[in-house]
Amino acid sequence: PFDVLVVGGGPAGAAAAVYAARKGIRTGVLAERFGGQVMDTLAIENLISVPHTDGPKLGRALEEHVKEYAVEIMNLQKAEALVPGGAGGYHAVRLGNGAVLKAKAVILATGARWRELNVPGEQEYRGKGVAYCPHCDGPLFKGKHVAVVGGGNSGVEAAIDLAGIVGHVTLLEFGDALRADAVLQNKLHSLANVTVIKSAQTTEVTGADGKVNGLAYTDRTTGQSQHIALEGVFVQIGLLPNTDWLKGTIELSRFGEIVIDARGQTSVPGVFAAGDCTTVPYKQIIIAMGAGATASLAAFDHLIRSSAP
Ligand code: FAD
Repeated sequence: PFDVLVVGGGPAGAAAAVYAARKGIRTGVLAERFGGQVMDTLAIENLISVPHTDGPKLGRALEEHVKEYAVEIMNLQKAEALVPGGAGGYHAVRLGNGAVLKAKAVILATGARWRELNVPGEQEYRGKGVAYCPHCDGPLFKGKHVAVVGGGNSGVEAAIDLAGIVGHVTLLEFGDALRADAVLQNKLHSLANVTVIKSAQTTEVTGADGKVNGLAYTDRTTGQSQHIALEGVFVQIGLLPNTDWLKGTIELSRFGEIVIDARGQTSVPGVFAAGDCTTVPYKQIIIAMGAGATASLAAFDHLIRSSAP
């Protein structure tokens, strides 16, 4: 059995593993895909002290750093169930292949994924104009015309944020009204370089020469197809935490995020969580790494206080 078993091999899981291993305790990392979301990322320019990197490079660096220590890495393995150990007992994590791993403390770092539009062009132009994170990719569109798809809080926040960087923002909302908080909507409407289109169903991201050149949508009130020429599309229709397998075992927020306190403690003693799968505000690499370190130190604290053998 492990002292600490980390589920997830992204920035949060890698940081948790390094911090645990440095305490000289038996540490394991289980990951469906080591590296996590960063593997799908091209330019990364906001990991402080690393001015420019890219996803695959950072993913490799995460793995190399973990391998500096005696950590058992179980890549390409999916956790399917968590059975809490109760007072002093071992927690059990069941894998897709039927194996069961036991640990005194578990750190959940399974991340999240962006909800996709599922329209033609989205995959083809991903990272070539189709983006999901305004904090990450906003500056790449300086002075250009972009669309934000989604009129909830994250879409309207993204539009306000981008309006300060890009030339023009067109925000498209599927329904007949924006769903964001009134204060955000007021701010949005005060901006001169933002156009809002409601009742718009995005039907295609168009492009040429390997990059986005527009977005097609159907006006749901008239049924007519429209096309806007632009250079970027930010999809802001939700971030889905990878926590389905924890439903009923661990307290989740109404968005499915694992509820944690400031130390990364979940509702189950001895089970900690970090990164994009949790209620942590703002989902970013540097934040996930810090959260992984926090959860790991809290897990160590738990171990030295608990009576588990
Ligand atoms: P993740 O990176 O999502 O890692 C989760 C890990 O858990 C993975 O290893 C996954 O395989 C594993 N996992 C999931 N479910 C299971 C399971 N059931 N069993 C076992 N393993 C499981 N952030 C920035 O700061 N700067 C950027 O420039 C930037 N650009 C981005 C661009 C794109 C296209 C995307 C998608 C994200 C970007 N982000 C960026 C966000 C950043 O990638 C995330 O905030 C960060 O990766 C979160 O780290 P994490 O460890 O919490 O989760």
